[in-house]
Amino acid sequence: MFDIVLSNGTVYDGSGADGLRADVAVKDGRIAAIGLLADAQAAERVDVSGLAVAPGFVDLHTHSDFTLVVNGAAESQVHQGVTTEVIGQCGFSCAPLRSSGDLPVLASGYGIGVRERRRWRTFAEYLDVLQSTPLGVNVAALVGHSTVHQAVLGDALKPGDPEDVAQMKRLVEESLDGGAAGFSTGLEYWPGIMAAPEHLVPLCEAAAQRGKLYATHVRNRDRYYDLGFAEALAAARLSGARLQISHIQTKFGAPAHAMEHTLEMVHAARRHGTDVAIDVIPHDWNNTTVISILPKWAREGGTEQTLARLRDPSVRERVKANPAPMLLIVAAGQWDRIVLLNASVNAAFVGASFAEIGKARGVDPYDALMDMLIEEGDAASRMLWATQSFTDADVEMAMRDSSCAVISDTAALAPYGDLADELFSLSGYGWAARFLQYYVRDRKVLPLAEAIRRITSLPAERIGLRDRGSLRPGQCADVTVFDPALIESRFSAKAPRAYPTGIAHVLVNGVFSMRDGARTEGNAGQVLRDAGH
Ligand SMILES: [Zn+2]
Repeated sequence: MFDIVLSNGTVYDGSGADGLRADVAVKDGRIAAIGLLADAQAAERVDVSGLAVAPGFVDLHTHSDFTLVVNGAAESQVHQGVTTEVIGQCGFSCAPLRSSGDLPVLASGYGIGVRERRRWRTFAEYLDVLQSTPLGVNVAALVGHSTVHQAVLGDALKPGDPEDVAQMKRLVEESLDGGAAGFSTGLEYWPGIMAAPEHLVPLCEAAAQRGKLYATHVRNRDRYYDLGFAEALAAARLSGARLQISHIQTKFGAPAHAMEHTLEMVHAARRHGTDVAIDVIPHDWNNTTVISILPKWAREGGTEQTLARLRDPSVRERVKANPAPMLLIVAAGQWDRIVLLNASVNAAFVGASFAEIGKARGVDPYDALMDMLIEEGDAASRMLWATQSFTDADVEMAMRDSSCAVISDTAALAPYGDLADELFSLSGYGWAARFLQYYVRDRKVLPLAEAIRRITSLPAERIGLRDRGSLRPGQCADVTVFDPALIESRFSAKAPRAYPTGIAHVLVNGVFSMRDGARTEGNAGQVLRDAGH
């Protein structure tokens, strides 16, 4: 007797193989059988004819570290078929901290209502807090280099002496042994930006020794793109770590051949023994913190000192003249392609371009962004923007690479409660749907079966989840049932919190989280502490 049988669907097992007409049976949270099960006994039978039955979507790169603690229901993700997220990316994780009184200011979604509620210091304690939260998705978590760096050195302007690096390594090891699924860096962000390869390789070795992934947001994806990618490949080669190059698309200001050259570098490294794979955001808009446009010298001493510095006109001139800012589209002054995504004091400007904001405030847009950082105060590092720094040509070139997973780079949110006003990316409520609709159905960049592999078995294999990402007997019953002809993202810059259409049912560990297109009460997600190879 099965618990659930999904009958008459077109079953995509996640391997990239074509869909087959079959029934899928679930028992005790696992896939029990796949085949012709019309005569089998089942407590519940759901007719899914005409629909695609896929493994639940695995989002290999998110920033939900804090938002899941605030509201674990992960509405924005569950509504588009996501069943597993990998958090702790780009060097930012919620742990380890120096003391449990510290706020992990590097984590996104910082502090929203959490300050008073939950405490942790070590990575294992953080995972315990997550586990005690009802979760709409399964969660694997990387430990972030910037967080570890800050736990050791605070906001001092220095990369760390050998003894500091040894201490960082101990923290990374303790975190990995405490359940972290891997290690990440964000080398364009404070304070990760200060690290050189000799600081990073020992930390990557800790991941390598445990068969865990090293994921990196590389230093530069524009003018010096080749140096940034080479640094990532060198760290993997020297440490032996399995490498994931995060959101690989090159940015505004890169030469036209940069994406092609980058893929060649990846292929050459792989031919010579480096275990490297990549992922891409299915959009030509990126999203990040506004404060990261400031050069590292401006960040010394923490947020308060940073903002005090920005009151000085000569400092502002130096910031504007920074020869290598994180986003060259900002340096180029293309303010109409830069949109405010998230702010508190300045919430009224969310959704407006910086061209519009500058005009409304009667100042140069660069001064407007610095004024607004000052006005946001404590929340300055929560201010986010989106820029049209990518191109569809690059996105599609990356997607055609068979090692390329497709990711959100967003945070799990909900359009109600403490997270109602939060936004992390333009496509946060619709990235997976947009991938399947825009790049797969409309532009035919990939066949559907292969597209499903990029958001299921491929990311599950990269992070080392042996019993997720595929539809096979014995696997955990994470299942997404959708209509490939109707799946469609509905978000826009003006109305970004719109759920997609076309998702019919979602099961997480054998429990419905979506049923007949609507969210259920189901929050059966688990914290996954044993990811790795
Ligand atoms: Zn990143």
